Amino acid sequence: MRVIRAAHLGFCFGVRDALQVVAEVPCPQDVTIRGELVHNPLVLHQLDVRGFQREPESDRKTVPATEQVMITAHGISDRERQRLAAAGKQLIDTTCPLVTRVHRAAQQLAREGRHVIVIGRPGHVEVEGIIEDLPSATVIPNASEIGDLPSRFLGVICQSTTPPRLAAEVLSALRERYPEADLRSIDTICQPTRDRQQAVIDLLPNVDALVVVGGKNSNNTRELARLAEERGVRTLHIEHPSDLAPEWFEGVLTCGLTAGTSTLDSTVDAVEQVLSQIPSTADTGIRLVPPEMPRLAEEWPTLGAV
Ligand code: SF4
Repeated sequence: MRVIRAAHLGFCFGVRDALQVVAEVPCPQDVTIRGELVHNPLVLHQLDVRGFQREPESDRKTVPATEQVMITAHGISDRERQRLAAAGKQLIDTTCPLVTRVHRAAQQLAREGRHVIVIGRPGHVEVEGIIEDLPSATVIPNASEIGDLPSRFLGVICQSTTPPRLAAEVLSALRERYPEADLRSIDTICQPTRDRQQAVIDLLPNVDALVVVGGKNSNNTRELARLAEERGVRTLHIEHPSDLAPEWFEGVLTCGLTAGTSTLDSTVDAVEQVLSQIPSTADTGIRLVPPEMPRLAEEWPTLGAV
């Protein structure tokens, strides 16, 4: 079967930089990582194997016992930063600069006296970090969930990984519902997210099916799958090459391949290797050669020695 990769796929620079910092931590047992560094079970397992302490995202209000605390690419509020510093914690900050840009945009709108609207997922760690520093904010996940707003002087930003289509829908619905509002919007969707979504849209006319690789809990990965599904393209969202079954590809001559921003290059390569073994006319009796890559338990060199 012919396989075509999306022009942009997989790790973004924010995740790569965070993992580079992780790889250089000399004593992982002295470091607590707040929340999920990336939504990738293989990477998270490797962090455990190396001895990092990890706090679930839901526990972020406690003060970790270790001296050092790692902030993930999703960022935290300035308020939380000060709280940890006051508790004597040394911060290892891997906040993505594009997330910092979202914080700054929200604070600018708040300084103008606007009620800030964040288009994004309520409860998401990035969104929580943004709104904690604001005097007033409303999080809106989609155009059908615009409730009553306390002000008509509004500022709108987006969670960095918001699909551009969704942001446009919410903005349009806001203007329709509050035509009298003074509304200023700052575009805070990150470029790697845009690139990956546009690359999928560009790829779809050339393929019979699409395989999307990434964590099932990864927002941006799910969005890539959704883009293809809503355009009527047969789509398979997997986390690992062993999730592929030849019979699923019956009748597929050309398959597209993409991956979310927290998917390892090695996982994408291994999926491509398996896909290329599947004949165009599916023979369900075919035995796929398993790629040499771990699902969870083996060492992943980029994270450093175990
Ligand atoms: S998805 Fe965008 S905002 Fe998030 S870490 Fe990657 S580059 Fe940064």
